Amino acid sequence: MPAQPDLRPDVAALPIPREGIAGAAPYGAPQLEVAHALNVNENPYGPSPELAAAIGRAAAEAATTLNRYPDREALDLRADLGEYLAAESHIPAPTPEQVWAANGSNEVMHQLLLAYGGPGRTALGFTPHYSMYPEYARDTYTAWVTAERGPAPDFTLDTAAVTAAIAEHDPDVVVLTSPNNPTGTALDLEVVRAAAQALAPRRGLLVVDEAYGEFRRDGVPSALTLLPTTPNLVVTRTMSKAFALAGARLGYLVAHQDIVDALRVVRLPYHLSAVTQAVARTALAHRKELLGTVALLRRERDALAEHLIQRGHDVAPSDANFVLFRSFADRQYVFEQLLARGVLIRVVGPDGWLRVSVGTEEDNIAFRTALQEADPR
Ligand SMILES: *Cc1c(COP(=O)(O)O)cnc(C)c1O
Repeated sequence: MPAQPDLRPDVAALPIPREGIAGAAPYGAPQLEVAHALNVNENPYGPSPELAAAIGRAAAEAATTLNRYPDREALDLRADLGEYLAAESHIPAPTPEQVWAANGSNEVMHQLLLAYGGPGRTALGFTPHYSMYPEYARDTYTAWVTAERGPAPDFTLDTAAVTAAIAEHDPDVVVLTSPNNPTGTALDLEVVRAAAQALAPRRGLLVVDEAYGEFRRDGVPSALTLLPTTPNLVVTRTMSKAFALAGARLGYLVAHQDIVDALRVVRLPYHLSAVTQAVARTALAHRKELLGTVALLRRERDALAEHLIQRGHDVAPSDANFVLFRSFADRQYVFEQLLARGVLIRVVGPDGWLRVSVGTEEDNIAFRTALQEADPR
């Protein structure tokens, strides 16, 4: 290896990033080699060898034209995503122009704030919320303000709280998450409707982040059903969770075509690689297999929540593929004791609470066994 120049003596001469970036730590849930990784809400079941081979063939086919830029508009993929959503949520199929896709719903959200946030503009969220929202706001010079969700253990968000926060903060963008991360709480559609109505006179945008939408319990509707009657509503989804495709990086949204058109202005050219588009389309074509584990994960989630309740924990009712619970002992101590037993979970949420993703049956048993030792009653 060529010798690296020693840059340390020159630190004082290094340029300083702008305010907000200087000294900030990058997002990072630990990526550790553990037997039971239950910390980032992935689907624990990987693709079958047959599906992995089909994805490989699609990538190889795309590779034959990698000298060319990809389809900038990704219209075939957007059409496939629209068809999938129509079937999943029993809504009329959105047109490809009403669907947007990017590298994970993180990029989708970033683009939303690039187009609808910005200097002098405000985005509102409700705590406890997904840790990335304030970072998209920081990156786009959008002011991030928050109001609180209802009290533990159910962290419900009601119409009165949402409309009061909108009246107080006069936001340009409101982000509601359903089911919410890290609490698992799904939203009543009345709350979504009320938020959209409160925002309409100020021409504000309502984003409903449904990253965990496919895990919701029977009878819990998706905000997608409100789209035809709610012009200022955006519903975001991802292939990272239920779809078991976190490694491919594909997130998407449905909204009025004019909203999608604003995102087309701020997106970087050719943001979705030809390989990503081919892989995502193949995965969508095989969705029966990929989503085949969702029913099992929902059952395991319910069993896990019930187990934690039986142990005497406070447990947030979950419509997602994770469960937030309050530990008996200090949460950092419990986290470390679990990790020492090969079980990686997440220290997140209000003080005293921990979040565990639903894993395979084997993962879930390992978690229960380790918790018995790490956090005895
Ligand atoms: C995991 C998650 C996402 C999805 O992120 P991707 O970039 O699509 O992998 C979005 N929102 C919430 C609340 C999440 O928990």
